[in-house]
Amino acid sequence: MAIERTLSIIKPDATRRNLTGAINDRFEKRGLRIVAQKRIRLSPAQAERFYEVHAQRPFYRDLVAFMSSGPVVVQVLEGEDAVALNREIMGATDPAKAEAGSIRKDFAESIEANSVHGSDSPETAAQEVAFFFSAIEMCP
Ligand code: GDP
Repeated sequence: MAIERTLSIIKPDATRRNLTGAINDRFEKRGLRIVAQKRIRLSPAQAERFYEVHAQRPFYRDLVAFMSSGPVVVQVLEGEDAVALNREIMGATDPAKAEAGSIRKDFAESIEANSVHGSDSPETAAQEVAFFFSAIEMCP
């Protein structure tokens, strides 16, 4: 296993309920290090660009509106096998199907307002990290 970095987003449903610390605790308890973090408000155009890969999906417009509806916390998580480990900590997209003890099982409101985003492969992670952060902003 290699040390990897992955892009995480704490979504507007979670920042609204003041869950940033509770969610970060899940990452740190499982050995992921938060090496960069900032709280921002995405414009609709920025959310569109970030989720471009989903542009043809029926939920795209709703997803863009949701992701720009309030503040998000974007962060870079680092650790062994960080991409897959973070996906495990997050749980399945639909909270009804998410594993017990996962972030989405415990905190998500719906399949859309599901509290966290996490990169789905090391290649995507590199692109998504670069979307939000420059090298000087990441401190291992
Ligand atoms: P993820 O990698 O687990 O986040 O899931 P996807 O890449 O498939 O979807 C991206 C995001 O779109 C999800 O995290 C949800 O916020 C949203 N989403 C996915 N499926 C649906 C859906 O069926 N309906 C709605 N409204 N949103 C969805």
